[in-house]
Amino acid sequence: MTESTEREPTSVKHVVIVGGGFAGMHCARKLAANPNVRITLLDKNNYQQFQPLLYQVATAMLGPSNIAFNLRGTFKVHPNVDVKMEEVVSVDPNTRTVKTAQGKQYQGDFLVLAAGSQANFFGTPGADKNTYPLYSLRDAERLRSRILAVLESADCDPALVEKGALNFVIVGAGPTGTEMAGAFGDMLHSWIKKRAGERTYKDLHLDRAQILLVDAGHAVLSAFSPSAQTYAAKMLEKRTVQLRLGTKVHEVGDGHVVLSDGTRIPTHTVIWAGGLKAASLSNNVGIKTGHGGRINVQADLTVPGLTGVYALGDFANIAGKDGKPLPQLASVAEQCGKCCAKNILSYIAGKPGDSFHYFDKGIMAMIGRNSGVAEIGEHRHELHGAIAFAAWLGVHAALLTSTRAKMEAFMEWAWDYFGGSRGDAILDRTEEMQINWNDDEEEMASATGEPQRKAQAGMS
Ligand SMILES: Cc1cc2nc3c(=O)[nH]c(=O)nc-3n(C[C@H](O)[C@H](O)[C@H](O)COP(=O)(O)OP(=O)(O)OC[C@H]3O[C@@H](n4cnc5c(N)ncnc54)[C@H](O)[C@@H]3O)c2cc1C
Repeated sequence: MTESTEREPTSVKHVVIVGGGFAGMHCARKLAANPNVRITLLDKNNYQQFQPLLYQVATAMLGPSNIAFNLRGTFKVHPNVDVKMEEVVSVDPNTRTVKTAQGKQYQGDFLVLAAGSQANFFGTPGADKNTYPLYSLRDAERLRSRILAVLESADCDPALVEKGALNFVIVGAGPTGTEMAGAFGDMLHSWIKKRAGERTYKDLHLDRAQILLVDAGHAVLSAFSPSAQTYAAKMLEKRTVQLRLGTKVHEVGDGHVVLSDGTRIPTHTVIWAGGLKAASLSNNVGIKTGHGGRINVQADLTVPGLTGVYALGDFANIAGKDGKPLPQLASVAEQCGKCCAKNILSYIAGKPGDSFHYFDKGIMAMIGRNSGVAEIGEHRHELHGAIAFAAWLGVHAALLTSTRAKMEAFMEWAWDYFGGSRGDAILDRTEEMQINWNDDEEEMASATGEPQRKAQAGMS
């Protein structure tokens, strides 16, 4: 069945938006105010996820409901927005028609492609199978379960520490990896500091935990100034995060990672924050894609050679002032979503669209409690420490969709800051407890041709 404009009075234009993230949602919101437009918003999830706070879900500081917002709720006051939870599997850009995994077709007068991004493993052997990426709510919940599972296992059997139970390897020292490492360091060390009788895990040797942050580059937070990088590295080391810079991950096995300097680290928790590429839909959009699998767009966000087709946010290469593609940021996605809506409305009114100009408010990253870095505005006024930490909390709370979400996030942060409690340390995915602690030995045995029997003998 094809949903099309045929049912509409000719004056009502149909806009099909693929992806209800920062870009798609802001585009839909702005269009929704115009009664001459009908919007179909397609997303494979029925929620918008707030990715900047995923690491806080992974470290049990916030719960999933603090960072994911029901899309139908967001548009409940807009009768001209129809949210459909469907996964788009292919696009015919010439007719502006999309097909979904559920067997439906949607055709619009305008088509907006805003499907976001996914992890890029850069062909690292074993990384797609054996790492925990951190790019979606599902990823964050899965990672939280794995972290809790290894802690629970090592609390029951301290011998598992020898098998790498408390070795956590984070790949990529950009904002995601750095924030994850810092938050995780804070979490473990707040537990270590507690007196023996008050400890959350009575038999866990948390003092033997190791958090390693690995990056091929020579600095953490490479997009920031050298002084911010030095500060961030110092703050991470204060949280006993071990920095392995100038080092690549060579291979990720079932129970280990191998680094480019030859070091083999036993671990069952490798967190992938190593890079992004466009969401998998980009392989099936009928458009030649550019760097990172993203769609190159013109200044007005349209796709060259096509009428009424736009690409936005992480799914697009959008040139900045210097001609280089803008970074994959929520603020870029939000602003271009609004600009796209304005341009669609201009087009309907018979006027030309505007070029997109990104208003750069700056960049910031949280290292952990009382430690952040911020570079404000285009001139990059630098802030480090508690003031940047406070600014980060304020900015990220402001970006949350509803007043309720902002208040709830502040409440959770206050509980954590003043009470040190992690309300969401719930292990609800018990399958994450099923860890083969001998998989590394089995792999080595099979590589050296030793009988499997020997390795299996030690399996619990
Ligand atoms: C861990 C992490 C931390 C980050 N921290 C920050 C930060 O601190 N500050 C900042 O500015 N930016 C940050 N970012 C980047 C920011 O979140 C992204 O730039 C922003 O989300 C991009 O918005 P988008 O709408 O393009 O994509 P997304 O927000 O990813 O939305 C894409 C949507 O498309 C849907 N979708 C995908 N494929 C399909 C399909 N085939 N069919 C239907 N629906 C589909 C997805 O379900 C999703 O809802 C972070 C990103 C990550 C991963």
